Amino acid sequence: MVIGMETLWTATSIDNNYKELNKDLDVDILIIGGGIAGLSIAYNLLDSRKKVVLLEANRVGSGVTSRTTGKITYLQGHYFDIYKRYGRYVAKKYLNSQKEAIQMLKRIIEDNKIKCDLAKVSSYLFIDDIKYLDRIKEEEDILKDIGCKVEKAKNFPNKKKFSYGIKVEDTYTFHPLKYLYGLKKIINKKIPIYEKSRVLNIEKKDNYYLATCNNGVIKAKKIIVASHYPYFIKPFFMPLKVTLEKSYISAFADKSYNYSAISIDKKSTSIRFYKDGDINYKIYLYGSCNTASEGNINERFLKLKREVNNYNYLWSNIDIMTGDFLPFMGEIADNLYIATGYNTWGMTNGVLAGKVISDLVMGYCNTYEELFNPKRKIYSNMLLAMVSSFKSYTTELIFHKKKWYNGKVSFSKVNGKDVAIYIDNIGRRHIVYSKCPHLKCNLVFNEEEKTWDCPCHGSRFDIDGYVISGPSNYNIVCNEDKCYNFSSDSYGEKQV
Ligand SMILES: Cc1cc2nc3c(=O)[nH]c(=O)nc-3n(C[C@H](O)[C@H](O)[C@H](O)COP(=O)(O)OP(=O)(O)OC[C@H]3O[C@@H](n4cnc5c(N)ncnc54)[C@H](O)[C@@H]3O)c2cc1C
Repeated sequence: MVIGMETLWTATSIDNNYKELNKDLDVDILIIGGGIAGLSIAYNLLDSRKKVVLLEANRVGSGVTSRTTGKITYLQGHYFDIYKRYGRYVAKKYLNSQKEAIQMLKRIIEDNKIKCDLAKVSSYLFIDDIKYLDRIKEEEDILKDIGCKVEKAKNFPNKKKFSYGIKVEDTYTFHPLKYLYGLKKIINKKIPIYEKSRVLNIEKKDNYYLATCNNGVIKAKKIIVASHYPYFIKPFFMPLKVTLEKSYISAFADKSYNYSAISIDKKSTSIRFYKDGDINYKIYLYGSCNTASEGNINERFLKLKREVNNYNYLWSNIDIMTGDFLPFMGEIADNLYIATGYNTWGMTNGVLAGKVISDLVMGYCNTYEELFNPKRKIYSNMLLAMVSSFKSYTTELIFHKKKWYNGKVSFSKVNGKDVAIYIDNIGRRHIVYSKCPHLKCNLVFNEEEKTWDCPCHGSRFDIDGYVISGPSNYNIVCNEDKCYNFSSDSYGEKQV
């Protein structure tokens, strides 16, 4: 059994070679983020004759993409929502975009012979709880109406029955990290990728940007932010536009089957299989929730453990929800582009971002430019985002839920700063500043993965306070005497 930030993907792939930025650069295009979106954009710019560079704060693939379930499918359970809001034309266009993305991904894998265990599978959408019958039938009807070949199904290939289900073909699964590592090798032949190189700040000058990193300054005519949740507030005001969905995932030895599935009832499960050597793993995701209503993380993991009995890997992951179930891909300010908000479907949408964003920065038209325009207004979501953040901010502020932690976590002050102290199994004290440097939300301890998680905007820190994923760009490191002035770490200046 693996405890901590390890996932099935990180445990079954390796990439030892990387280089860090150690100089200033002057480029045409800077891409920030080495997940599936950032690498896809770089891939599409390989023949652009532009001077391009990609910076990754940690290691390529170390973000959300290393914690996905890696299903490559257009059966996503949201077509009826899109249809309700925007009508049939948009729902159909979104379906086409997802099918195109699957073809693009397949072509990249085949053209470059990337060994990433791509497998063709049937995709199922199902419910166990009959209360959701209308919901799944609406989805089935709209899919048929927009030209999707859908079959009714009564059970999975392993004969396990569900209350109601549909299935589609021409969908896939793969190993997301093997794919990214393969893609990185190809990109690196023409475009430098610098890892452990975090962009701390971008500053607009007359006709260029200056991006300050922990180990160099980059002058760039255009910047593409593919960092999942951008670390900056202005421009774009992301915290007002999105909510976060968190899910809990397990992988355990089981028989091998050729399908993937998601349910659209209250349990919100997801299933797929992966074979590593002699072991067949079933990957089972259970209990997705908005991070603002997540509450006790340990309780969530306990529910997952009860569902699966035994497991080899256990992890959680967060994705960004846009409210209208369409991603954000496009220009948010002069020569500043963003690719994010994949509503838990980043394997297709990350690949698609590669094409959409590269077309836009090169000045070409793209058929999805309007549909995914990040400047479109989604008012209902703005309200939901504000309420969610406020709720998680105040709930944690008021209760500091000590009872969640079985006495292992306590809260105190060091030099007037709020700190949290976690005592590990051998009695060592781990002290951190207990507010997220991004927007000062109170952090929640995730005992299973030994991380401090922000319920407002999704930043994560390890038990000693080092940032694992953003939007925070800064650590929350403290010792018994003081919380560090952040200029003393490698991530630049920021006072707590
Ligand atoms: C539980 C769960 C299951 C999922 N399953 C599926 C699935 O089956 N199929 C599917 O299509 N999608 C799935 N998704 C969604 C998918 O995993 C994500 O949408 C996708 O991985 C996001 O990719 P990304 O490149 O935008 O982000 P990331 O992979 O997080 O990449 C962003 C990178 O930017 C880097 N970065 C951040 N800040 C900076 C900075 N300041 N400077 C430099 N670099 C920086 C990070 O370190 C990171 O490596 C799932 C999501 C969840 C939560």
